Amino acid sequence: MIIVMRHEATEADIAGVVSRLQAIDCEAHVSRGQLRTVIGAIGDRDQIQTLPWEAMAGVEKAVPVLKSFRFVSRDFQTEDSVIKIGGATFGGGHFTTIAGPCAAENRDQVMRTAEAVKLAGAKMLRGDAFKPRTSPYAFQGLGEAGLQLMAEAREQFELPFVAEVLDSRDVALVSSYADVLRIGTRNMSNFTLLAEVGRQPRPVQLKRGFTATLEEWLNAAEYIYKEGNHQIILVERGIRTFETAARNTLDITAVPLIKGMSHLPIVVDPSHSGGRRELVAPLARAAAGAGADGIMVDVHPTPDTALVDGAQALLPSEFAEMMTAVNAIASVLGRVL
Ligand code: PEP
Ligand code: MN
Repeated sequence: MIIVMRHEATEADIAGVVSRLQAIDCEAHVSRGQLRTVIGAIGDRDQIQTLPWEAMAGVEKAVPVLKSFRFVSRDFQTEDSVIKIGGATFGGGHFTTIAGPCAAENRDQVMRTAEAVKLAGAKMLRGDAFKPRTSPYAFQGLGEAGLQLMAEAREQFELPFVAEVLDSRDVALVSSYADVLRIGTRNMSNFTLLAEVGRQPRPVQLKRGFTATLEEWLNAAEYIYKEGNHQIILVERGIRTFETAARNTLDITAVPLIKGMSHLPIVVDPSHSGGRRELVAPLARAAAGAGADGIMVDVHPTPDTALVDGAQALLPSEFAEMMTAVNAIASVLGRVL
């Protein structure tokens, strides 16, 4: 049940509702918005429903939760969640670009890419040290040495960075270097990993599972939120469909749908969606046009020699050109760059 307080409800009214919930052994999650406060009630549904909520001081209405997720829903919080990481802001009308190599490979590659994406307007760097690969014989990432390179680039170019964490046992390590932890598509339903990143303080990027529905995706976000970490950025990265012409099918419809279903920011990854260089710019433009809160793009100084995902990596010059168009679209829509 979600109890929506009146605009003019007082602190005493809010405390009154919380204590009624506690009296029946229910948890009360208070969310204070700019316009009104809502209280999420968790516990025995029958007992909660029998209380006369709408007769209580300061209560506007009590809405039963029909969805399987609660706290990440727009019903629970009407205003956008805004997540600030250094100079990068996600949600609340901003349009923010994350860019960098798919994987950190060596110092020269990381530094050259970081310098180029910063110059072209990226606000956050990407670059993984632990790579989920289809083949166990493919390059798996540099591990901690990769995180050290990324941290060096952060200092030099003043760009926070995001890196993937594949295993619960590595959460503390990745979190000790990276500004944002990423859960990749293959781990979206790894509920122990979701809970683990929910219990550490860094913001989390949650990629959509490539076969996940929007509801399953938001439930995965709920696993993180429920543990106390509310800084979650959703990333649409394409889903598997019957179409084989591109690596995945970018579900652009997910962007406006998620905006209606959830208060969390949503970023689009046009690189892993299309899987081919020539598709990246058109998909990025579509993302900005559809109302995404940002994009995350693979860039490499020499894509031909990339150890991972070279086919979809943009050259720094291609990235800069793409940014001009994408930022123009985002600006027309009133986004803050
Ligand atoms: C990535 O962003 O490098 C990545 C592995 O993406 P995904 O989990 O979407 O495949
Ligand atoms: Mn990749």
